[in-house]
Amino acid sequence: MSEQPLAIRAIFEHAMRAHAHKYIISRDGDAVVRFTYAQFGRRVAQLAHALRKLGIGPGDRVASFAWNGHRHLELYFAVPMIGAVLHTVNIRLFPDQVAFVLDHAGDRAVFVDASLVKAIKPAIALNPDAERAFVVMGETSELLAGSSRYEELLAAEPDTYDWPEFDERSAALLCYTSATTGDPKGVLYSHRSTYIHALSIGLTDAMGIGERDRVLPVVPLFHVNAWGTPFVSLMVGADFIMPMERLDPAGLVELLESERVTVSAGVPTIWMAVRDLLRARNTRLPLLRKVIIGGSAMPPSLMDDLEELGIRAIHAWGMTEMSPVGTLNVDSSAADDKPELRRKERYTQGRFSPIVSWRLVDESGNDVPADGTSRGELLVRGYAVAREYYRNDAATAAGFEPDGWFHTGDVATIDPYGYLEIVDRVKDFIKSGGEWISSVEVENLLMGHPGVKEAAVFGVAHPKWQERPVAAVVLREGHDLDEEAIRGWLLERLAKWQTPDRILFMTVIPRTGVGKFLKRELRAQNERLFAEG
Ligand code: AMP
Repeated sequence: MSEQPLAIRAIFEHAMRAHAHKYIISRDGDAVVRFTYAQFGRRVAQLAHALRKLGIGPGDRVASFAWNGHRHLELYFAVPMIGAVLHTVNIRLFPDQVAFVLDHAGDRAVFVDASLVKAIKPAIALNPDAERAFVVMGETSELLAGSSRYEELLAAEPDTYDWPEFDERSAALLCYTSATTGDPKGVLYSHRSTYIHALSIGLTDAMGIGERDRVLPVVPLFHVNAWGTPFVSLMVGADFIMPMERLDPAGLVELLESERVTVSAGVPTIWMAVRDLLRARNTRLPLLRKVIIGGSAMPPSLMDDLEELGIRAIHAWGMTEMSPVGTLNVDSSAADDKPELRRKERYTQGRFSPIVSWRLVDESGNDVPADGTSRGELLVRGYAVAREYYRNDAATAAGFEPDGWFHTGDVATIDPYGYLEIVDRVKDFIKSGGEWISSVEVENLLMGHPGVKEAAVFGVAHPKWQERPVAAVVLREGHDLDEEAIRGWLLERLAKWQTPDRILFMTVIPRTGVGKFLKRELRAQNERLFAEG
């Protein structure tokens, strides 16, 4: 058989030939702009020429600091297709973290959305002598010192490019984990892993995306390559729609509706907000077939609520180190005649992707049975799983076994039909009086309370019990609940030792750059809650 390299170029060229008439759609300021794949492809070629003129060549890193928009997507193809590496920077990192990742990656150019120029300035000021080019995307009067304008660069260039061929193991994309402790860790994706991951997520029993779909990733292009949605969409010829900075629920619902979106993806908090808005307006999105929800555990109540609104919610689990998809929850035939089992399984993180191998191990590294109840740490390996962190030997040694198994840091059970259930992060477990409490289990319950909008549960040091659970809760508008009311409700559903000792009411729960609850900060803010004296 032919040994043609698996490459992003192959996805692109197929898209241009087979689906030239399909659309890339993006908000751009107040407008919504549309490009056929063919027009998009010409702009990708122009961008490739412009990159070369900026001195970018094979192996060089190029950073993006951008929303989900068409220019960002152009970088997704042009940068890797000239052999360079696109480093998608999380725009919500603190300035010192942005400065760290730009420096660690050695980025030679940074492409910044016009509306984010102000946001990146403090990071650049931390390292003013770094030699790198800046390119501003979109209309703005505010530029960075020495920066050029994206549209001017493209306009000067021809719209075809003689794409080079290179080894499929070459680096294509770079993403840093939204570290909850320590410096961000980089994961470098190859052309090969990107291609294989895209094929795998397109399967019917995975995201099941097809040519008729209109896909809108709410998940940022800087969060693990928007979970692979750009690549699978162009591969199959689906229209691809991007919201730019309009991530507020009203802006999203407007675009989902006007662009007749059929498939979307994002973290649970986004869908909680969309759900609340749809309910408040008493409207539906009848064309939205399904949403892929992951990044943190989807509370069962969210899944039920979305289903009531006619939206199929597919729970997914993954990690930056896994490109990211590990599992997706699509019904299997196994539980067809077992309604009890189906009810239980449908809320779990789902079944493994065919490109991921897994093990569940105890603290001594011994395999734990896949019986649906035995817990162990999940180890993974596969075609799109990293084997090391980028330029970080210490983190690599801590996270990866010499034979390639990666420690996910997630504790899970797997049932005999292959359904994975994440019990908690190893470090988020709460140890109280010698017993382990899963923060996720208590959060899921709390988020099923009609008056609770959001809840995060974390452990706080306790003089007698070692640690005790505490819940940070955001109430729904119009609900007036006190600590005792919520604890009383929980006590009807949980053992006393599992029930949080304190319920802290907040207006917002602190979040990571990709929208997950930031438990480290909650722990730090409350570390002396149970201190004696
Ligand atoms: P990141 O690489 O930053 O996306 O974080 C990966 C981690 O997020 C995983 O190791 C899990 O702890 C968590 N995570 C992702 N998806 C889920 C999910 N569906 N349920 C529970 N935890 C999840």
